Amino acid sequence: MLNQKQMEQFAELAVRVGANMQPGQTVVVRCDVACQEFAHLIVAKAYEFGAKKVIMQWSDEIVSRMGMLNQSVESLCEVPQWAIDQSQYFIDQKVCLISIKAGDPNIYKGCDPVKLKESALASGKAMINFRKATMSNLLRWTLVSIPTPAWAQQVFPGIPAEEAVDKMWDAIGHIMRLDQEDPTDAWFKHIDVLTRRAAYLTSHNFETIHMYNAQGTDLYVGLAIEHEWIAAREMGQDGIPFTANMPTEEIFTAPHNKKINGTVVSALPLVNNGNIIDNFSITFKDGRVVDYTAEVGYEALKGLLTADEGVLSLGEIALIGKNSPIAESGILFFNTLFDENASCHLAFGQSYPTTVKNGNALTDEQLAERGMNSSIKHVDFMVGTKDINIDGIGFDGKVVPLFRDGEWVI
Ligand code: ZN
Ligand code: ZN
Repeated sequence: MLNQKQMEQFAELAVRVGANMQPGQTVVVRCDVACQEFAHLIVAKAYEFGAKKVIMQWSDEIVSRMGMLNQSVESLCEVPQWAIDQSQYFIDQKVCLISIKAGDPNIYKGCDPVKLKESALASGKAMINFRKATMSNLLRWTLVSIPTPAWAQQVFPGIPAEEAVDKMWDAIGHIMRLDQEDPTDAWFKHIDVLTRRAAYLTSHNFETIHMYNAQGTDLYVGLAIEHEWIAAREMGQDGIPFTANMPTEEIFTAPHNKKINGTVVSALPLVNNGNIIDNFSITFKDGRVVDYTAEVGYEALKGLLTADEGVLSLGEIALIGKNSPIAESGILFFNTLFDENASCHLAFGQSYPTTVKNGNALTDEQLAERGMNSSIKHVDFMVGTKDINIDGIGFDGKVVPLFRDGEWVI
């Protein structure tokens, strides 16, 4: 369990390192009612560092589940105009957004997959402007997670909820570097290492990344034209840097959505819309999924891959060494924020405009010309096994080893 001072330092990380809130700025905090206490610490920190106003957007996943069970598809798909207007107000106000993600991974267990899919699609479409504003860094945003009893019990089954929550706080405390003397300083040092590695990759301008291991992964991922590798620190459109995911260990860029070939095998389960998809493999040809298998959750995978055309290609390739604190913990969190930082991953669907040079200034057509993928989905899945080897292949055919046996060699 963290002490009060560590909890406050955690809240400070979200405000200062994560969203990098500026004095006079309006902050939106999104959070489930289960995280109320921690949300209060964030609000207090935001005001301490000069927030103009903090707006809470409470959710309640137990109520959401009841809605999913009892409402019709039509009713679930209705997005009220006031909600769309509110998100537009947030964009106009140039808020920074802090989301606390701590859901029960099984909250929608047993719910109708059609309802889950359709309602997610409807809200994705209605909130497209807000999503564009965050994905293009018009708004600075960050995601953090704290243990909740339902989540902790899934991660540490068979022990009482309170004990599970304590264990998870210990794990997250270490991962968030809250056990260090000055967590904020430790984060800035960590960000430096990642940023230097990203610059090295960008300077090589690889044509293709080749991933292979003993489990059957043998995948060539062509990279978008004028791609840039991004790590830890992204640049807001206003020139103020921020850290979108805390924790973060990844260095990522955009695949070319017509140049992906071969097969990739999952390394960890994928939790999507409350469904678990496990032991799956995906085969690509010329950038498009042409075949897939799944030992667990085949129907859920099929549902995901029929969301739209763009979900059949990739929008992200991210590299993480096996010695990162999350990977080392060996814990499966059933939460993308952690699990995606434990392992190299790919994402079905939308790519981040910020992963090509001047991406935010480009039109959709120009982005497409560079091989950037577009979709209403962006779903990460983990592929980095402990034995994965990764090479960068240049336009001249030169092969540069990047990973051997799951760890960086550059
Ligand atoms: Zn990622
Ligand atoms: Zn991603």
